[in-house]
Amino acid sequence: GGQVCFYDDNYASILKRDYQIENDLRYAIENEELELYYQPKLDINSLKIESMEALVRWNHPDTGLRMPGDFIAAAEASGLINPLGNWVMHAACKQVREWQEDGCEMPVSINLSPVQFRQPDLVEQVNSAISMARVEPRLIELEITESAIMEDVEASLETIKQLSRHGYRISIDDFGIGYSSLEHLKRYPLDILKIDRCFVKEINLGGSELAIARAIVEMEHTMGMVVVAEGVEEESQILALREINCDQIQGYLVGPPLPARDAIRLVEQNVYQVTGIT
Ligand code: C2E
Ligand code: MG
Ligand code: MG
Repeated sequence: GGQVCFYDDNYASILKRDYQIENDLRYAIENEELELYYQPKLDINSLKIESMEALVRWNHPDTGLRMPGDFIAAAEASGLINPLGNWVMHAACKQVREWQEDGCEMPVSINLSPVQFRQPDLVEQVNSAISMARVEPRLIELEITESAIMEDVEASLETIKQLSRHGYRISIDDFGIGYSSLEHLKRYPLDILKIDRCFVKEINLGGSELAIARAIVEMEHTMGMVVVAEGVEEESQILALREINCDQIQGYLVGPPLPARDAIRLVEQNVYQVTGIT
Protein backbone atom coordinates (compact mmCIF):
# COMPACT_ATOMS: atom_id res chain seq x y z
CA GLY A 1 0.00 0.00 0.00
CA GLY A 2 1.09 3.57 -0.67
CA GLN A 3 3.75 2.41 -3.13
CA VAL A 4 4.18 2.53 -6.87
CA CYS A 5 5.85 -0.23 -8.90
CA PHE A 6 6.91 0.12 -12.50
CA TYR A 7 6.73 -2.80 -14.85
CA ASP A 8 10.00 -3.35 -16.69
CA ASP A 9 10.03 -5.43 -19.86
CA ASN A 10 13.66 -6.42 -19.25
CA TYR A 11 12.76 -8.01 -15.96
CA ALA A 12 10.19 -10.23 -17.65
CA SER A 13 12.73 -11.40 -20.21
CA ILE A 14 15.31 -12.15 -17.49
CA LEU A 15 12.70 -14.19 -15.62
CA LYS A 16 11.79 -16.02 -18.80
CA ARG A 17 15.44 -16.78 -19.54
CA ASP A 18 16.06 -18.08 -15.99
CA TYR A 19 12.93 -20.21 -16.19
CA GLN A 20 14.17 -21.72 -19.45
CA ILE A 21 17.65 -22.38 -18.01
CA GLU A 22 16.09 -23.97 -14.95
CA ASN A 23 13.97 -26.35 -17.02
CA ASP A 24 16.81 -27.24 -19.38
CA LEU A 25 19.20 -27.73 -16.47
CA ARG A 26 16.85 -30.05 -14.63
CA TYR A 27 16.79 -32.18 -17.77
CA ALA A 28 20.58 -31.86 -18.21
CA ILE A 29 21.40 -33.20 -14.74
CA GLU A 30 19.30 -36.31 -15.30
CA ASN A 31 20.41 -36.92 -18.87
CA GLU A 32 24.17 -36.76 -18.71
CA GLU A 33 24.52 -33.42 -20.51
CA LEU A 34 26.94 -32.23 -17.83
CA GLU A 35 30.65 -32.97 -18.02
CA LEU A 36 33.60 -32.21 -15.76
CA TYR A 37 36.67 -30.52 -17.19
CA TYR A 38 39.91 -30.60 -15.20
CA GLN A 39 42.49 -27.87 -14.72
CA PRO A 40 45.92 -28.77 -13.30
CA LYS A 41 47.62 -27.17 -10.31
CA LEU A 42 51.37 -27.28 -10.69
CA ASP A 43 54.16 -27.17 -8.10
CA ILE A 44 55.97 -23.93 -8.92
CA ASN A 45 59.46 -25.43 -8.49
CA SER A 46 59.29 -29.12 -9.41
CA LEU A 47 56.69 -28.38 -12.13
CA LYS A 48 54.90 -31.56 -11.08
CA ILE A 49 51.09 -31.59 -11.37
CA GLU A 50 49.89 -31.90 -7.77
CA SER A 51 46.12 -32.00 -8.30
CA MET A 52 43.29 -31.18 -10.70
CA GLU A 53 40.33 -28.85 -10.18
CA ALA A 54 36.99 -30.17 -11.47
CA LEU A 55 35.05 -27.47 -13.36
CA VAL A 56 31.58 -28.21 -14.63
CA ARG A 57 30.56 -27.78 -18.28
CA TRP A 58 27.17 -28.21 -19.91
CA ASN A 59 27.00 -29.80 -23.34
CA HIS A 60 23.72 -28.15 -24.33
CA PRO A 61 22.11 -29.92 -27.31
CA ASP A 62 21.04 -26.60 -28.95
CA THR A 63 23.52 -23.97 -27.82
CA GLY A 64 26.68 -26.12 -27.48
CA LEU A 65 29.23 -25.95 -24.66
CA ARG A 66 28.08 -23.71 -21.82
CA MET A 67 30.26 -22.32 -19.05
CA PRO A 68 29.36 -22.25 -15.34
CA GLY A 69 29.08 -18.44 -15.44
CA ASP A 70 26.00 -18.98 -17.63
CA PHE A 71 24.06 -21.28 -15.36
CA ILE A 72 25.46 -21.58 -11.79
CA ALA A 73 23.61 -18.46 -10.60
CA ALA A 74 20.28 -19.75 -11.99
CA ALA A 75 21.01 -23.15 -10.43
CA GLU A 76 21.63 -21.47 -7.07
CA ALA A 77 18.49 -19.36 -7.27
CA SER A 78 16.29 -22.35 -8.13
CA GLY A 79 17.87 -24.79 -5.67
CA LEU A 80 19.02 -26.99 -8.58
CA ILE A 81 22.57 -26.38 -7.37
CA ASN A 82 22.05 -29.19 -4.86
CA PRO A 83 21.37 -32.00 -7.37
CA LEU A 84 23.95 -30.40 -9.70
CA GLY A 85 26.57 -30.25 -6.94
CA ASN A 86 25.79 -33.80 -5.98
CA TRP A 87 26.27 -34.91 -9.59
CA VAL A 88 29.63 -33.08 -9.65
CA MET A 89 30.76 -34.80 -6.43
CA HIS A 90 29.89 -38.26 -7.72
CA ALA A 91 31.43 -37.65 -11.14
CA ALA A 92 34.65 -36.24 -9.62
CA CYS A 93 35.02 -39.16 -7.19
CA LYS A 94 34.41 -41.64 -10.02
CA GLN A 95 37.15 -39.92 -12.03
CA VAL A 96 39.62 -40.08 -9.13
CA ARG A 97 38.90 -43.80 -8.87
CA GLU A 98 39.33 -44.37 -12.63
CA TRP A 99 42.65 -42.55 -12.69
CA GLN A 100 43.77 -44.53 -9.66
CA GLU A 101 42.87 -47.80 -11.37
CA ASP A 102 44.93 -46.64 -14.36
CA GLY A 103 47.90 -46.20 -12.01
CA CYS A 104 47.70 -42.43 -11.48
CA GLU A 105 46.91 -41.12 -8.00
CA MET A 106 45.60 -37.62 -8.65
CA PRO A 107 43.79 -35.55 -5.98
CA VAL A 108 40.80 -33.61 -7.32
CA SER A 109 39.26 -30.42 -5.98
CA ILE A 110 35.53 -29.77 -6.09
CA ASN A 111 33.93 -26.31 -5.94
CA LEU A 112 31.16 -25.96 -3.38
CA SER A 113 28.55 -23.29 -3.90
CA PRO A 114 27.55 -21.30 -0.77
CA VAL A 115 24.08 -22.87 -1.07
CA GLN A 116 25.59 -26.37 -0.99
CA PHE A 117 27.92 -25.41 1.81
CA ARG A 118 24.91 -24.53 3.97
CA GLN A 119 23.16 -27.89 3.39
CA PRO A 120 22.82 -29.62 6.77
CA ASP A 121 23.69 -32.99 5.20
CA LEU A 122 26.72 -31.79 3.22
CA VAL A 123 29.17 -34.03 5.10
CA GLU A 124 26.95 -37.09 4.49
CA GLN A 125 26.71 -36.19 0.80
CA VAL A 126 30.48 -36.06 0.36
CA ASN A 127 30.95 -39.22 2.44
CA SER A 128 28.42 -41.05 0.31
CA ALA A 129 30.11 -39.93 -2.95
CA ILE A 130 33.55 -41.14 -1.85
CA SER A 131 32.31 -44.41 -0.48
CA MET A 132 30.32 -45.22 -3.65
CA ALA A 133 33.41 -44.57 -5.75
CA ARG A 134 35.72 -46.23 -3.20
CA VAL A 135 37.97 -43.17 -2.94
CA GLU A 136 39.96 -42.05 0.11
CA PRO A 137 39.00 -38.63 1.54
CA ARG A 138 42.62 -37.40 1.39
CA LEU A 139 42.26 -37.35 -2.43
CA ILE A 140 39.31 -34.96 -2.30
CA GLU A 141 39.76 -31.24 -1.80
CA LEU A 142 36.77 -28.97 -1.24
CA GLU A 143 36.97 -25.38 -2.50
CA ILE A 144 34.91 -22.84 -0.60
CA THR A 145 34.91 -19.08 -1.17
CA GLU A 146 35.61 -16.57 1.56
CA SER A 147 32.14 -15.07 1.11
CA ALA A 148 30.47 -18.47 1.69
CA ILE A 149 32.34 -18.75 5.00
CA MET A 150 31.52 -15.21 6.03
CA GLU A 151 27.75 -15.67 5.53
CA ASP A 152 27.55 -17.51 8.84
CA VAL A 153 30.88 -17.61 10.59
CA GLU A 154 29.99 -20.02 13.42
CA ALA A 155 28.08 -22.53 11.26
CA SER A 156 30.93 -22.48 8.70
CA LEU A 157 33.47 -23.22 11.39
CA GLU A 158 31.51 -26.27 12.49
CA THR A 159 31.06 -27.59 8.91
CA ILE A 160 34.72 -27.07 8.02
CA LYS A 161 35.85 -28.77 11.23
CA GLN A 162 33.65 -31.78 10.45
CA LEU A 163 34.89 -32.04 6.86
CA SER A 164 38.46 -31.71 8.04
CA ARG A 165 37.95 -34.41 10.70
CA HIS A 166 36.78 -36.76 7.96
CA GLY A 167 40.07 -36.22 6.16
CA TYR A 168 39.04 -33.91 3.29
CA ARG A 169 41.39 -31.10 2.36
CA ILE A 170 39.80 -27.65 2.60
CA SER A 171 40.69 -24.86 0.26
CA ILE A 172 39.76 -21.17 0.27
CA ASP A 173 38.93 -20.17 -3.31
CA ASP A 174 39.26 -16.66 -4.80
CA PHE A 175 41.06 -15.25 -1.75
CA GLY A 176 41.67 -11.52 -1.76
CA ILE A 177 38.40 -10.26 -3.22
CA GLY A 178 36.20 -10.89 -0.17
CA TYR A 179 36.09 -9.27 3.21
CA SER A 180 37.64 -11.85 5.49
CA SER A 181 40.97 -11.17 7.13
CA LEU A 182 43.82 -13.61 7.45
CA GLU A 183 43.55 -13.11 11.19
CA HIS A 184 39.97 -14.32 11.02
CA LEU A 185 40.75 -17.36 8.84
CA LYS A 186 43.22 -18.57 11.48
CA ARG A 187 40.32 -20.12 13.39
CA TYR A 188 39.54 -22.58 10.58
CA PRO A 189 41.36 -25.85 9.87
CA LEU A 190 42.26 -24.88 6.29
CA ASP A 191 44.82 -26.62 4.09
CA ILE A 192 45.04 -24.51 0.94
CA LEU A 193 44.59 -20.85 0.06
CA LYS A 194 44.03 -19.84 -3.56
CA ILE A 195 44.93 -16.25 -4.35
CA ASP A 196 42.36 -14.82 -6.76
CA ARG A 197 43.17 -14.16 -10.40
CA CYS A 198 42.48 -10.39 -10.14
CA PHE A 199 45.26 -10.16 -7.62
CA VAL A 200 47.72 -12.37 -9.50
CA LYS A 201 47.13 -10.35 -12.67
CA GLU A 202 48.83 -7.32 -11.11
CA ILE A 203 51.75 -9.24 -9.64
CA ASN A 204 55.12 -8.27 -11.01
CA LEU A 205 58.61 -8.17 -9.59
CA GLY A 206 58.97 -5.04 -7.50
CA GLY A 207 55.27 -4.06 -7.51
CA SER A 208 53.19 -3.26 -4.42
CA GLU A 209 50.89 -6.26 -5.05
CA LEU A 210 53.95 -8.45 -4.68
CA ALA A 211 54.61 -7.07 -1.20
CA ILE A 212 51.04 -7.86 -0.15
CA ALA A 213 51.21 -11.32 -1.72
CA ARG A 214 54.52 -11.95 0.07
CA ALA A 215 52.87 -11.15 3.41
CA ILE A 216 49.95 -13.48 2.58
CA VAL A 217 52.29 -16.35 1.64
CA GLU A 218 54.47 -15.88 4.74
CA MET A 219 51.50 -15.81 7.07
CA GLU A 220 49.81 -18.83 5.47
CA HIS A 221 53.05 -20.80 5.64
CA THR A 222 53.29 -20.20 9.37
CA MET A 223 49.80 -21.72 9.58
CA GLY A 224 50.97 -24.71 7.55
CA MET A 225 48.88 -23.87 4.48
CA VAL A 226 49.73 -24.40 0.83
CA VAL A 227 49.34 -21.25 -1.29
CA VAL A 228 48.13 -21.50 -4.90
CA ALA A 229 48.12 -18.58 -7.36
CA GLU A 230 45.11 -18.66 -9.71
CA GLY A 231 44.96 -17.30 -13.26
CA VAL A 232 48.67 -17.39 -14.07
CA GLU A 233 48.98 -16.39 -17.72
CA GLU A 234 52.53 -15.05 -18.03
CA GLU A 235 56.03 -16.29 -17.26
CA SER A 236 56.84 -13.00 -15.48
CA GLN A 237 54.15 -13.84 -12.92
CA ILE A 238 55.85 -17.19 -12.23
CA LEU A 239 59.17 -15.46 -11.58
CA ALA A 240 57.51 -13.08 -9.13
CA LEU A 241 55.55 -15.88 -7.44
CA ARG A 242 58.74 -17.96 -7.04
CA GLU A 243 60.43 -14.98 -5.47
CA ILE A 244 57.81 -14.86 -2.69
CA ASN A 245 57.75 -18.68 -2.20
CA CYS A 246 54.25 -19.30 -3.49
CA ASP A 247 53.76 -23.10 -3.66
CA GLN A 248 51.58 -23.84 -6.65
CA ILE A 249 50.24 -22.19 -9.80
CA GLN A 250 47.13 -22.65 -11.89
CA GLY A 251 46.19 -20.83 -15.06
CA TYR A 252 46.07 -20.83 -18.85
CA LEU A 253 49.89 -20.79 -19.01
CA VAL A 254 50.00 -24.20 -17.33
CA GLY A 255 46.84 -25.46 -18.99
CA PRO A 256 43.17 -24.52 -19.42
CA PRO A 257 40.41 -26.75 -18.04
CA LEU A 258 40.31 -29.84 -20.28
CA PRO A 259 38.18 -32.96 -20.68
CA ALA A 260 39.45 -35.71 -18.34
CA ARG A 261 41.35 -37.71 -20.96
CA ASP A 262 43.22 -34.62 -22.22
CA ALA A 263 43.95 -33.33 -18.71
CA ILE A 264 45.53 -36.59 -17.60
CA ARG A 265 47.70 -36.61 -20.71
CA LEU A 266 49.43 -33.52 -19.26
CA VAL A 267 50.51 -35.66 -16.30
CA GLU A 268 51.88 -38.37 -18.54
CA GLN A 269 53.87 -35.94 -20.69
CA ASN A 270 56.76 -33.83 -19.59
CA VAL A 271 55.18 -30.57 -18.40
CA TYR A 272 57.93 -28.50 -19.97
CA GLN A 273 57.11 -29.95 -23.39
CA VAL A 274 53.47 -29.08 -22.92
CA THR A 275 53.75 -25.63 -21.39
CA GLY A 276 57.21 -24.35 -22.20
CA ILE A 277 57.60 -23.28 -18.53
CA THR A 278 61.10 -23.73 -17.12
P1 C2E B 1 36.87 -20.89 -9.86
O1 C2E B 1 36.62 -22.06 -8.99
O2 C2E B 1 37.63 -19.76 -9.26
O3 C2E B 1 37.59 -21.44 -11.15
C1 C2E B 1 38.52 -20.73 -11.91
C2 C2E B 1 37.93 -20.16 -13.17
O4 C2E B 1 38.91 -19.36 -13.80
C3 C2E B 1 37.53 -21.22 -14.19
O5 C2E B 1 36.43 -20.70 -14.92
C4 C2E B 1 38.75 -21.28 -15.09
O6 C2E B 1 38.47 -21.74 -16.39
C5 C2E B 1 39.18 -19.84 -15.11
N1 C2E B 1 40.64 -19.72 -15.34
C6 C2E B 1 41.60 -20.59 -15.02
N2 C2E B 1 42.82 -20.14 -15.38
C7 C2E B 1 42.63 -18.95 -15.95
C8 C2E B 1 43.52 -17.96 -16.52
O7 C2E B 1 44.74 -18.13 -16.60
N3 C2E B 1 42.96 -16.82 -17.00
C9 C2E B 1 41.61 -16.61 -16.96
N4 C2E B 1 41.15 -15.46 -17.46
N5 C2E B 1 40.74 -17.50 -16.41
C10 C2E B 1 41.24 -18.65 -15.92
P2 C2E B 1 35.12 -21.53 -15.16
O8 C2E B 1 35.40 -22.97 -15.43
O9 C2E B 1 34.30 -20.77 -16.15
O10 C2E B 1 34.41 -21.49 -13.74
C11 C2E B 1 33.99 -20.26 -13.18
C12 C2E B 1 33.51 -20.45 -11.77
O11 C2E B 1 32.32 -21.24 -11.75
C13 C2E B 1 34.50 -21.19 -10.88
O12 C2E B 1 35.48 -20.29 -10.41
C14 C2E B 1 33.58 -21.70 -9.79
O13 C2E B 1 33.34 -20.71 -8.84
C15 C2E B 1 32.30 -21.97 -10.54
N6 C2E B 1 32.22 -23.42 -10.81
C16 C2E B 1 32.82 -24.15 -11.77
N7 C2E B 1 32.51 -25.46 -11.64
C17 C2E B 1 31.70 -25.54 -10.54
C18 C2E B 1 31.04 -26.63 -9.89
O14 C2E B 1 31.17 -27.81 -10.26
N8 C2E B 1 30.27 -26.31 -8.80
C19 C2E B 1 30.14 -25.04 -8.35
N9 C2E B 1 29.38 -24.81 -7.28
N10 C2E B 1 30.75 -24.01 -8.94
C20 C2E B 1 31.52 -24.25 -10.03
MG1 MG C 1 37.72 -23.10 -7.68
MG1 MG D 1 38.99 -19.45 -7.96
